[in-house]
Amino acid sequence: MLRGEIEESGNYKLCVERNVEKLLYLLGKTQQKGTFFVLEWIVKQLPLLIKRIHEHGYEIASHGYAHELVYLQKPHIFQ
Ligand SMILES: [Zn+2]
Repeated sequence: MLRGEIEESGNYKLCVERNVEKLLYLLGKTQQKGTFFVLEWIVKQLPLLIKRIHEHGYEIASHGYAHELVYLQKPHIFQ
């Protein structure tokens, strides 16, 4: 499923939030440190979730804007 399809479906928010909550629980339970590499479009859609990760003491890093398939990109975008 491509980003646009995921965004339109509306299911990504529930999926991302649920998975992050599981990670926060497991990392907290086992007292592990972690870095969350997040996509910018997720940050824009779920800013409070990113704030929650930060409040739990985890490092946040960029994973780029989105997962764009190379063969679907125009040459000037790929550069
Ligand atoms: Zn990735």
